[in-house]
Amino acid sequence: MISKELLEILACPSCKGDLSYDTKKALLICHGKHCPECGMPLDAAGDCTREGCDASKPRPAGLEYRIEEDIPIMLIDEARKFPLQ
Ligand SMILES: [Zn+2]
Ligand SMILES: [Zn+2]
Repeated sequence: MISKELLEILACPSCKGDLSYDTKKALLICHGKHCPECGMPLDAAGDCTREGCDASKPRPAGLEYRIEEDIPIMLIDEARKFPLQ
């Protein structure tokens, strides 16, 4: 369980966006637009902002951060990427 206070100070380590908490799945979710390859944010043109990433105009992905023993794992590499609608 994540407290409201903690949720308020947490931000996505990739895009610094707000996170929403899925109580059912116990996941923190960022609905910002991220690269489905490397998880870094996409720029306004839809390209990955990570230098050297070869994803070109990738389909934007959201990120899910899991919580283990009440500690959110705020690592881009560990986040699960899911296609945004
Ligand atoms: Zn994000
Ligand atoms: Zn990328």
